[in-house]
Amino acid sequence: MKTEIRLNLIGDNKPAERLHDLVKAPENTSWAQEKKHSWDASEPATVYYTPEMMPDGKQTTAATVILRTKGCHWWWSSGCTFCGYFNDTRDDVESKDLHAQWEYSKRKLSNFEGMGMVKVYTSGSLLEDREIPVDFQETVLRECAEMGKHLIIESRTEQCTLEKLQWASNINPDFTVAIGLEAHDDEVLRFHINKGFSLKSWVRAVENIRKVGQRVKTYLMFKPPFMNEGDALEQCTKWIRDAAEASDEISINPMNIQRGTIIDRLFRAREYRPPWLWSLVELIQRTHPIIHPKGGLAGAEDQICRLIIHPTAAGRVRGSHNCGKCDKHVGAAIERYSVSGDLREFDGLDCACRTVWLNEIHLDTSTPVVLGVGIPRRGPILEHLRAP
Ligand code: SF4
Ligand SMILES: [Zn+2]
Repeated sequence: MKTEIRLNLIGDNKPAERLHDLVKAPENTSWAQEKKHSWDASEPATVYYTPEMMPDGKQTTAATVILRTKGCHWWWSSGCTFCGYFNDTRDDVESKDLHAQWEYSKRKLSNFEGMGMVKVYTSGSLLEDREIPVDFQETVLRECAEMGKHLIIESRTEQCTLEKLQWASNINPDFTVAIGLEAHDDEVLRFHINKGFSLKSWVRAVENIRKVGQRVKTYLMFKPPFMNEGDALEQCTKWIRDAAEASDEISINPMNIQRGTIIDRLFRAREYRPPWLWSLVELIQRTHPIIHPKGGLAGAEDQICRLIIHPTAAGRVRGSHNCGKCDKHVGAAIERYSVSGDLREFDGLDCACRTVWLNEIHLDTSTPVVLGVGIPRRGPILEHLRAP
């Protein structure tokens, strides 16, 4: 007898109960579950160190500890369209595992000796009690304060209540809360990103963080799903302008494609190309006068907030890339700008692909093609024009 195959990819060929289960199908497949539970819960996902800048502008080394946690509560019920953090999580992580991961990280990096900053990332929010046991939150906050390290944590907005932040600040008076705002635009937050919080909630969170005297870092996304290159450039410029005053630091995350996500499906269907590195150069050139109204360099008196761009997987097909020949030089210039804040880093950069990119931006912003005219759009161009 022929078995009917349903479009669910989950379990024993039973129909999905909710749309959410279909969207999350890659995460729920048996191979994904098996892989997740093959991780050792007593070891963090990654531990490494990088050069960084302290809040006062001094150079330092920062430790980054990415813990293996239960993941993000927003992901459990819905989730952002680009987020592949679920790949690093385990459903059964407990306080003792997190403490073991923390001890492992300290051992691995000699108790963070010589490092001024520690970034503790949890594939969710450190201050969310449903994700991270409170005693572990306290361990991280207390130990970083005792060691005299500036702590960076990540959080969604709803955890940044005055009460929770006051509790955290009583344990550690010197930390930065990094919030993945992604877009300073409610429509984009809702329809492109499925962020699950609004701009209003971000404004409230920022006010609370400021009230307790801590620092705000804002992540903005360059080219979210369902957005073309030209719109991404115009929108992101506006978001930087709108978020600069409220942030001590803005970090631009150019989209990179993580496996099993919605953006991964668009990418594999050739309906989405990760950003051009040229767009990031143009973004920096357009926003530098917003960040430095008097034309200063990084850390100068006129700086409204710090602006950094670290393109993940630059030059790779799943990260920001150009033609393949110039990626290394353009990527390196962007990285240098994040440290120096000097537009001269881009002097003399050019390549034949720049004209292709420029045409794409021009067409995206002058023709009514919703998802843009980028090279990987498959199908006849006339169909794209009819699509809106
Ligand atoms: S809030 Fe952050 S961790 Fe949670 S689903 Fe969105 S991007 Fe992922
Ligand atoms: Zn090129």
